Amino acid sequence: MSEAAGQAVPAQRGGAGETLRRVLPFAAIFGAGLILPAVSNDYWTLIATRAAIYWILVSGLNLVVGFAGQLAIGWVAMLTLGAYTTSVLALGNVLPPVPVFAAFAAAALVGATFGLIVGLPALRLRTFYFAMTTLGFATIVTQVALAWQSVTGGGIGVPGPVLPEPLDTTLGFYLFCLALAAFCTWMTANVAHSRFGRSLVATRDAEVAAEASGISKPRLLGPVFLFSGAIAGIAGGLFATLQSYITPEAFTFDLSVLFFIAILIGGRGSILGPLIATVVLTWLPEFAAPLVVWSTFLYATLLLVIVLAVPGGIAALLDFKNRRPLESSRAILPRPELLPEILGRRPASGGGITLRDVVLSFGGVRAIDGLDLTIEPGQVHGLIGPNGSGKTTTLNVICGFNTPEAGGATLDGAPLRPGTPQTRAPSGIARTFQTPRLIGEASVLQNVMVGGAIRGQGTFLESLLSLPRHHADEAMLREDALLALRTVGLEPLAEVRADRLQHSELRFMEIARTLMLRPRFLLLDEPAAGLSADEIRRLGALIRAISRQGTGVLLVEHHADLIFEICDRVTVLNLGRVLAAGTPAEIRVHQEVVSAYLGA
Ligand code: ADP
Ligand code: MG
Repeated sequence: MSEAAGQAVPAQRGGAGETLRRVLPFAAIFGAGLILPAVSNDYWTLIATRAAIYWILVSGLNLVVGFAGQLAIGWVAMLTLGAYTTSVLALGNVLPPVPVFAAFAAAALVGATFGLIVGLPALRLRTFYFAMTTLGFATIVTQVALAWQSVTGGGIGVPGPVLPEPLDTTLGFYLFCLALAAFCTWMTANVAHSRFGRSLVATRDAEVAAEASGISKPRLLGPVFLFSGAIAGIAGGLFATLQSYITPEAFTFDLSVLFFIAILIGGRGSILGPLIATVVLTWLPEFAAPLVVWSTFLYATLLLVIVLAVPGGIAALLDFKNRRPLESSRAILPRPELLPEILGRRPASGGGITLRDVVLSFGGVRAIDGLDLTIEPGQVHGLIGPNGSGKTTTLNVICGFNTPEAGGATLDGAPLRPGTPQTRAPSGIARTFQTPRLIGEASVLQNVMVGGAIRGQGTFLESLLSLPRHHADEAMLREDALLALRTVGLEPLAEVRADRLQHSELRFMEIARTLMLRPRFLLLDEPAAGLSADEIRRLGALIRAISRQGTGVLLVEHHADLIFEICDRVTVLNLGRVLAAGTPAEIRVHQEVVSAYLGA
């Protein structure tokens, strides 16, 4: 009892104190922004206005680049589109003049549309190629602006929109931009601390784990590109207002590089870091006039220094919490008695997962050669065999990562479609990986919360605006993740960065992540590899207890003792074929198994 009370402390500390610690630096920056006009002159206010406008764009781009890890280096295109949309619409040289705020709304729409169009290739193209398409798009936009003289004024340009009173003064416009920048910061912070933000980072750092947790990349990235494009479009309108006259030359590659580098220098997956970096990079060339021509050189040098000296960027420098040393002798003490709370007790009925006549080759190698296997609810099914006998491939067939040439898997008699790994989690199938897949930069708690992402009810928009369903989702995921961590014995490490954990702890963390799905079936790929004898014993008891809740477990393992102790049935693979199948007692004395695999 007292132990449970003691362990609940980190959860509570995550409340008000944590929020204050998070908000304080932003309050300081925007507070300084507020008093800046009072203590300086119009010149510095203009520079600060520019920084605020850049940040409006970068804050959205940060979700794409910093969180989702998509290298959109040509995002200046959205700024260009927004600038021309507002200017042309407000000027009325094509259509009758439009009220200036309606022109801004149109810019957001255009930005969102093209954000989505430019972003979609990210679903197919890998890093470098995607970066090139965004850059190509930026070039096209500039060229069109140059060529389409009747609308854009070509090289001569167009006047920017003029905002109504009191936003038409230097001070009024600055405060307007500052308020918008603060609003965008708030929105992106809401996303970052939602299941959407965690899922973005999961697709960046642990894509297969994200897929196995049911996270669909198109459905996740779509709203992010829309949002990022929309606020970049608005930033474009503000930029045109600030410039008061725009030509294609205003939208240089340097500017795009500045946006992109601000995020890298700031640190991936942080908001504070890129905010500081955007302000610094906007300010830097102003310190001395001769430096302006050197700005690209300065950015590049700064980037090199940061990447070499502090790979995590400014955010890593500010991460004091994770410098505290961890206790060196820590034991993982699972508490299987908590499982009924997290899994709920289900009758061990219904069909199982069945593999029939599965055949799969990689090139000339027959990885699986006519495999039959059934995983029953409420039972532990051991899958053993020498290295390369096809155990992991079997898991990948069930999970939809690999497509068999013949045969297939069914769940309760219905086929499990290959090539759709993100559909397994909603059907109640969860898995761990032979090499643990984790988000190293996120806390253990956040890693586990990713496992339950699909159980949230709120939409992206609700998270963006911090509406009630967002809070309900977060509270539910947090509570369940803490319960899952308590169950596997990792709760004291909940707030620690996952990449600081020991290998054995990561294995338990992956199990906690799967528990978030309340799985009907759990597939474990060598969960005991790298564990001490004590840990293996505790793991065995935990797996056994999970199956007693009605979950069907497929256990791939090399530790024969563990297999024989906790399995209800065992299948032995050799060269992709079933060498033997039966109860542990039968397998233990099976002639061929003993001679080929178990040894004397
Ligand atoms: P196990 O998990 O039992 O050690 P695997 O299922 O990982 O074995 O592999 C079975 C066979 O398939 C091995 O010969 C392995 O080299 C091959 N294999 C597995 N995955 C791939 C892949 N993606 N490409 C090519 N060969 C693969
Ligand atoms: Mg394997």
